[in-house]
Amino acid sequence: MHESAIATSILDLVLHALPAPRQRITKITFVAGVLAGIEPSCLEVYFSELAKETAAENAELILKYTDAEFVCQTCGYRELFEGRGRVKIECERCGGLNRLQGGSEMYIEQIEVEQ
Ligand SMILES: [Zn+2]
Repeated sequence: MHESAIATSILDLVLHALPAPRQRITKITFVAGVLAGIEPSCLEVYFSELAKETAAENAELILKYTDAEFVCQTCGYRELFEGRGRVKIECERCGGLNRLQGGSEMYIEQIEVEQ
């Protein structure tokens, strides 16, 4: 399952990023594109399960979404796509062909540790 693999990667990354092994992680901000297809509640469940008895146990996992956008190949017109609704193949300004850009990225934006 998609979310369990992502939760495993997040945990690996944050545990390796810890400056001192005895510090505890309190909060993780994870950014995912709207097209990455992550179910937030599902990710949280996997993460809290996997994080048990590690430095990230009970850490708060914040999920932030980034939008994708349509970019017209002809006139360069850009339109935001929030991942819902119709995929617009044609530019609404000139009728040119749109390309879908972004929205599939995933990265850890911030990790907070206990002071
Ligand atoms: Zn256009």
